[in-house]
Order: sequence, then C-alpha cells, then structure tokens
Amino acid sequence: MLIVMNHKAGPKQIEAVVKAVEQMGLTAAPIPGSERTAIGVLGNRGYVDDTTIRDLPGVQEVIHVSKPYKLVSRDFHPRHTVVRVGDVVIGEGKRPVVVAGPCAVEGEEQIVRTARAVKKYGADLLRGGAFKPRTGPHAFQGLREEGLKLLAIARRETGLPIVTEVMSPDTVGLVAEYADLLQVGARNMQNFELLKELGRIRKPVLLKRGMSATLEEFLAAAEYILAEGNGQVILCERGIRTFETATRNTLDLAVVPLIREMTHLPVMVDPSHATGKRSLVAPMAKAALVAGAHGVLVEVHPEPDKALSDGPQSLTFHGFETLMGEIRRLNEFLGF
Ligand code: PEP
Ligand code: MN
Repeated sequence: MLIVMNHKAGPKQIEAVVKAVEQMGLTAAPIPGSERTAIGVLGNRGYVDDTTIRDLPGVQEVIHVSKPYKLVSRDFHPRHTVVRVGDVVIGEGKRPVVVAGPCAVEGEEQIVRTARAVKKYGADLLRGGAFKPRTGPHAFQGLREEGLKLLAIARRETGLPIVTEVMSPDTVGLVAEYADLLQVGARNMQNFELLKELGRIRKPVLLKRGMSATLEEFLAAAEYILAEGNGQVILCERGIRTFETATRNTLDLAVVPLIREMTHLPVMVDPSHATGKRSLVAPMAKAALVAGAHGVLVEVHPEPDKALSDGPQSLTFHGFETLMGEIRRLNEFLGF
C-alpha cells in the first residue's frame, strides 16, 4: 500500500499516519526521493482495510499495490540504486561495466591468463564459475572451493573483483568469503531459500532471469533478496526459452528499458548464454548497451575449442579485444 500525502502535510501529520499504520500491525516508512511525500506500507498478507488511514489529516490518496514485488519497484523507491563491487560502480548514470571471464574455472593457468587478458583489454570484473549448474551429472561440475581459491589468486594478480555463482543456501557463506559479487544462475532464480540467504549477507548479488520466467516472476525473485535486507541487487537478462531454436535462448532486450522503468535496480545483459553462439555475442552486447543496460557479462576463454563448458559461445582473447574497442566507441557515442 502507498499513502500519498498532500503538499501541505507536515512532519506531525506524517508521523500520525505512520503510527496509525503500525497500530494495524504493519510497517510504514516515508519514501525518500518521491515527488510527493509518500509513505510505503509493507507486511500485509492480503487486502488491507484503509478506512482508518484515508481520512487522517494530510492524506491525499491511498493506493493499493497488488504486485508481488514492492521493494524493487519504483513506486516504493523512486531513486535509482547504484551497486558497488569493490571500486566498480554499477547503475544509473555510470559508465556501463563489462564482466568477462570463462564459463568455468578450469585451472590456475586458465583463470589467471584469462584474468590478465580481460584486464588488459578493459574488463571491470572477472567472472568464472566454481560451482556449475550443469544439465547432466556427467558434465564438468566445477572445481568448487578449489575454484574459488583460484579466482582469489586471479584477483590478487590483476586487481579485478570476482563474480561467481552460488547454487545452494548452505554454500552462501563459503562463496561470500571469496566472491565480490555473488551470482544466482537462471536455474536457481526461484530457489527461494537461496534468495533469502543472500538477502541476509552484506555482499552484492547478480540475479539472472530464469529461462522461463516472466518479468513479474523475475522481479518477485529479486524481492526475496531485498525483503531480507540486502538492497545491493543487479538484475541480469540472459535470454529466455521460446520456440526459436536457431539461438540457444531468445534475448529479450525489451526488458532492459522496462526494468529501468519499473524498478530502481541496475540491469545487465549476458549475450553469451542468450545466444549460445560466439559470432552473436558482440552484436547483442552492443545492442544491450544501446537499450540501456548498465553492463554486459561475456564469456571469454583462452582456447574456446577446449573449454570444459560453453566453448561455442566463448570469445577468444582477440574477439574480446575487438569487442572492447567497439564498446569504447559506443560509450563515446552514448555519452559515457
Ligand atoms: C553462467 O553464467 O555460467 C550460467 C550458468 O548462466 P545461466 O545461469 O544464465 O545459464
Ligand atoms: Mn556458461
């Protein structure tokens, strides 16, 4: 529920409204950054009878918000959120960031070489999976804690903050010891226990859209993290399942400006998993930035043909260097 106060409402009237809401067993707080003074109400489990509120002095309007997400919506939080990962700043008005690295950490030489290369060409963050959500149990499952340690070595060697996936609530503590940004993969977007656990840590989270999730389901998943107290969330579009089989997934680029309209959270795009095809990664990365993405996430491997996962969509070092040149020129054009 949103309570909009009239322009003349003073602090005493606002306080009285907050008290009245609290007497109903709900929580209320003024929303900073609203054009009109607004009070957000949370904690309701169904329809709320607003008769005791709407006639209080200073109240102009009571709006019932029936969306499954509130904290992520612009209604409740008009100011955009900026997420910090180490020294890297992601969000509205900032230069778009580039996350790059292999699908999976395969060994020290592979991850350190890749980290050095992507750093050299201008990446802001290093990605690499240590816990891998593979479709079948016989595929490479990741190096787990050993992989996290290798990522830490790559960070020490290059200074790049690291992004890595966490798959289960019981490994959140472990992954958070190493990662600067914790990724929730598409397959775990609705792992609600994982989301709640991530809401209780004080590190930023990159939440990927589930492969069959509607935008509303995606935002409701993010709401789980915010509802537990962690507001440092970046949303990532990575393609959805459609009838089209020419690409691995269908990149839903329209959600980029839509997410910016509907929420205050930064949004990124992963053209690698969205297309599954190396030649499509650069065009879709650039399209994502033009659509307003605050960053892109791309897979890069020293020898894609030998990669243990996602080789066909991984850029070579040379391919990444070319893409970074193009992104730099695009940023100048876009005014960054
Ligand atoms: C990944 O980033 O390596 C990954 C598994 O992505 P997604 O969850 O989007 O499939
Ligand atoms: Mn991958």
